[in-house]
Amino acid sequence: MPRSIEAQLADLRARSLLRKLREIDSPQQPEIEIGGKQIVNFSSNDYLGFANAPFLREAAKAAIDDFGVGSGASRLVCGTLAPHVALERKLAEFKRSEAALSFSSGYATAIGTICALVSREDIIILDKLAHASLIDGAKLSGATIRVFPHNHVGKLESHLRWAKSNAPDARVLVATESVFSMDGDRAPLKEIVEIKKRYGALLLLDEAHAVGVIGENGRGLADKRGVTADVDIQMGTLSKALGVSGGYVCGSKTLIDLLVNRARSFIYSTAPPPAIAATALTALKFLMSTKGENQRMSLWKNVKQLFAEMPESLAPNPPLQSAIVPVILAEEQTALAAAQWLLEKGFLVPAIRYPTVAKGTARLRITISAAHTPEQISTLCDALRKLPARTHDE
Ligand SMILES: *Cc1c(COP(=O)(O)O)cnc(C)c1O
Repeated sequence: MPRSIEAQLADLRARSLLRKLREIDSPQQPEIEIGGKQIVNFSSNDYLGFANAPFLREAAKAAIDDFGVGSGASRLVCGTLAPHVALERKLAEFKRSEAALSFSSGYATAIGTICALVSREDIIILDKLAHASLIDGAKLSGATIRVFPHNHVGKLESHLRWAKSNAPDARVLVATESVFSMDGDRAPLKEIVEIKKRYGALLLLDEAHAVGVIGENGRGLADKRGVTADVDIQMGTLSKALGVSGGYVCGSKTLIDLLVNRARSFIYSTAPPPAIAATALTALKFLMSTKGENQRMSLWKNVKQLFAEMPESLAPNPPLQSAIVPVILAEEQTALAAAQWLLEKGFLVPAIRYPTVAKGTARLRITISAAHTPEQISTLCDALRKLPARTHDE
């Protein structure tokens, strides 16, 4: 007899892997309301506090007055409105690329872009910890998938060598992240660029958690390392530090022309609302200003405070890589119990479990925002110091 949906859910529950939605009754910000209680939020990706920033609320309202709420059609039909074009022009300038294309989400960006670039006769090489959107894009593309251990440049090179000798005519795409979403660490980008050039492969770099956080004006790790020109596909999202919604690719004019013609998640989906594009553009312009750079500095001040005050035994090593700070607790139940204990103390810090992370590496994932106050960070560190022993003995 086929397994029932109830049995499937019961199985997830038995393994501490069942997930539930949590309703937030306030805007997205450091202090949120859950079930009538005020909770300090250390779980969003709103690194610069843009999601509910007054200047962006105003920009969104003005854009709705100018362009309405819906885009009416897909981009290629009649859904390309002036704000989409203005946003893409600014994204290209921000990423120092020839051209850019925006999508309705980072997820849609990843699957559309990867499937446009590689197919059955090609090869895609992924970091073991690559985001689900990159993995799903790789699977959907039908290309041969090779995975290298996290940040292991030697294994990446052996996959490239294998590709060169076994499929000399295949297009080879290396896809990785600059800041890893669940570990907060960085890719050895200079080495990766050096190797991919040597083998003539293409590189897709997902900067979802680096933009707004790393590099001058938050341009990301490629810019910080001075390798932008060698990153063929610069991918990112407008939904994290930029505080709005959507995803994008920056690269050569040729690449963008191909995506307009071949990225199915771009072609067969209604264009994002023009007001969303206009609001993301305002966020981007702010990030590129002196005030934006100051906001990014405030984020780093907060990250440094967290590392200075959190228990050393819980801090990741190396420190200060990004605004994501994982506290690895190993067992699913341990991570869940710790998150529940923190919630009772007034802090929202999510437990991240399989399949988002590997079995045996369940964790708390603390994310820091420029909008957190020093007091909020200090009280979180106090609570972390008092985490019941069984929750961090593993
Ligand atoms: C969040 C995320 C995405 C998806 O972006 P959305 O805009 O949320 O769809 C893609 N890649 C990485 C690494 C991410 O963390």
